[in-house]
Amino acid sequence: MDILRTVSEMQSYADAVHATGKTVGLVPTMGALHGGHLSLMDLALNHADRVVASIFVNPTQFGPGEDFEEYPRDLEGDADKLRERGVDVVFAPAADEMYPHNDHPTRPAPLAWVEVEEFDNVLCGKYREGHFRGVTTVVTKLFNACKPDVAVFGQKDAQQLAILKRMVDELLFDVEIVSAPIIREPDGLAMSSRNAYLNERHREQATVLYDAIQEAESAIRGGEQDANRVVRAMRDALDNAPDARVQYADVVNAGTLTSVETLDRGEDVLAAVAVYFGDTRLIDNVHVRVPAVSSTDAVSADSERAGSAGA
Ligand code: AMP
Repeated sequence: MDILRTVSEMQSYADAVHATGKTVGLVPTMGALHGGHLSLMDLALNHADRVVASIFVNPTQFGPGEDFEEYPRDLEGDADKLRERGVDVVFAPAADEMYPHNDHPTRPAPLAWVEVEEFDNVLCGKYREGHFRGVTTVVTKLFNACKPDVAVFGQKDAQQLAILKRMVDELLFDVEIVSAPIIREPDGLAMSSRNAYLNERHREQATVLYDAIQEAESAIRGGEQDANRVVRAMRDALDNAPDARVQYADVVNAGTLTSVETLDRGEDVLAAVAVYFGDTRLIDNVHVRVPAVSSTDAVSADSERAGSAGA
């Protein structure tokens, strides 16, 4: 497994793979790899002939006061995990390789940005100004550097995934986006590089995020169509953690990310939460299709059938 540091080396590698008629799969990451990331590698290996994992802690997606400097970095450990998993290449560029027209190494201010409007007015975007513009810009650059046929992203970052799908559609990128399910710890906490920041007390309480989205899922599957009641169920679950500071608990349309008041039958929705424990911000979500027939409708239909059968 090679570790490539420059865009030109990376582009030459992708060109060489394509010249032999084979495909390139890309898994963008910020490193500090865990089981969630590794599941994305497996998916990429199933979808492409050669797999590139990028490791780049992208400065433009961190706001002032966020954890850019503290973000865990372990290129050697990550490379060992990727090699063992069967990844072909690691692309690990320095900041000035990705943002060449800047003289500030940690806070680049590029003139060229890629942005998907409106999709960032909700959920995390409402609280992390400029974050998704940083993501769409760096993913575009990674696409230009790695020339993937397929790119894999996790459902864990559901808003990011929806925004990237929209970007690829609108800007006519010739890249297939594959979404990967959320991988969890045995107690339900979604794996995240930021879990390492949690102290023992907060780590124990952090399972309320999973409780909250499970409450949302069972309410929706049970026929609840009032989004406010779903939100209340999530907030009640989050209230069980004394140290949790809820940033948001919301239900939105999964495709357009617009807020929903009434959940329509057959609609794909996302129930999502963001919660602080101390300075550590955790997110989780569940994607649910609102049932075509509510369970209460189903029960009354069954009893009507039973009634008419008896008559
Ligand atoms: P990050 O390194 O946090 O930028 O994440 C890189 C990719 O891994 C993103 O597409 C994330 O959505 C995905 N990812 C992070 N955590 C998980 C998880 N627990 N399960 C599945 N995918 C994940």
